[in-house]
Amino acid sequence: MRSVLLLTVDSLRADHLSVHGHERETTPRIDELAREGIDHRRAFSQGTTTSMSFLSLLGGIYPLANGAWMDSEPRYPRLSPTAPALAEVLSESGLVTGAWHSNPLLSRFHGYSRGFTEFHDPIPEGAAGGGYVYRRWHRRRFRKAIVARLKRSPRLYGAMLRAKERIFLMERPFEPASALHQRAARFIGEADGPFFAWIHYMDLHYPYLPGPSRVREFTGLRISKHEMNGLNRTIIDHRPSSLPASKVGPMMALYDTQLNVLDAEIGRFLDALDGSGHLDGAVVVLTADHGDQFMEHGHVGHWNNVWYYDELLHVPLIVRGAGKGVRDGLAALVDVPPSICRWAGVEPHPDMMGRPMDVDREMVFAEGEMDGVTRVAVRTVRRKFIWDVTGDSVELYDLDADPGEKRDMAPTSPEGVEAFRGIASAHLDEARRHQVRMAARRVSA
Ligand SMILES: [Zn+2]
Repeated sequence: MRSVLLLTVDSLRADHLSVHGHERETTPRIDELAREGIDHRRAFSQGTTTSMSFLSLLGGIYPLANGAWMDSEPRYPRLSPTAPALAEVLSESGLVTGAWHSNPLLSRFHGYSRGFTEFHDPIPEGAAGGGYVYRRWHRRRFRKAIVARLKRSPRLYGAMLRAKERIFLMERPFEPASALHQRAARFIGEADGPFFAWIHYMDLHYPYLPGPSRVREFTGLRISKHEMNGLNRTIIDHRPSSLPASKVGPMMALYDTQLNVLDAEIGRFLDALDGSGHLDGAVVVLTADHGDQFMEHGHVGHWNNVWYYDELLHVPLIVRGAGKGVRDGLAALVDVPPSICRWAGVEPHPDMMGRPMDVDREMVFAEGEMDGVTRVAVRTVRRKFIWDVTGDSVELYDLDADPGEKRDMAPTSPEGVEAFRGIASAHLDEARRHQVRMAARRVSA
């Protein structure tokens, strides 16, 4: 059996890696990893948010096969107890398993600790994960301390808040990569045999707060703390309409700088493990759960089940230790769990819906269900079809002529729409059947 190290970066767009042609030298260390291994240039996530994407990335199922657990309270889904869990399959086969992250949507509460011997997340045991960290985020300490005294004077209160954001950067509610690396390095160092280690980074998830001097150094742009806070507020408060076109560049500069900082941290971590021989013979996988938007379709960040464009679905997928080269064929995150099983020398779970990714896919799917609305997208190398199943509206794009997905061809291509609707509909049926199959297997087991 072999060890596997899985690194997942929240919100990392494939096209912002320098090895993929981004104009800034954002990721020299990730680029190195890509050159040492297999660099999938057309890898796609099965969802546009953490909650959807990880059902595939760690559960090995399509999001819509997760069944009733999609509607769990709070509104973010939990991995169904009838679904396979990658870590469980690996640990039952004898690997030691560890996970480190600070994303509340991937907590124990949401079912992601299954199969991990060591599981580090920021959610207290028993607490409803969902909005835990996010609630904390909105319940800023500064506000709480003074709000009672200022209740009769909202103007003064507003002025104080503005003054605060002029002086201090906003608080980040997540743990930095360096803290996770310390824990993971200890675990890997002490592992007595093959291990499966998963680290999920929130460093690139908004708010993007790399600090003004770092931004100036890396991009040449001068962005004050106040402006930085303001740019992040438009994302956190979902107010893209308040973002002038001239501010998209600065927002992207923050993202790129933050990515560059994380890249260096990941490089240091891998250097240390490589130097000590702890990764000898191991497979290292680096990917992302989804990307982020910079107004390509009128929105910033990511938070909903609405946008199925490539800025959110196109993710990096780099594998070191299982071959070399650039792969241009379609690849899907749902194929990561069975592939990891194979690399580790373990039989994939029969309920995993993906397949080991040694063969390119003809098409990939993305889907989600939120607030009673179901959406399915189908992507081939040349076409993208997006179907709002609930409202029965469709979009179709020719990615050769229109890679930015701006000109909807659905109204003029009824035949193309019907063909794709048939494919998406069959996929949806299969996901529902799979959900029943998984439940039946658990009952009979
Ligand atoms: Zn995410």
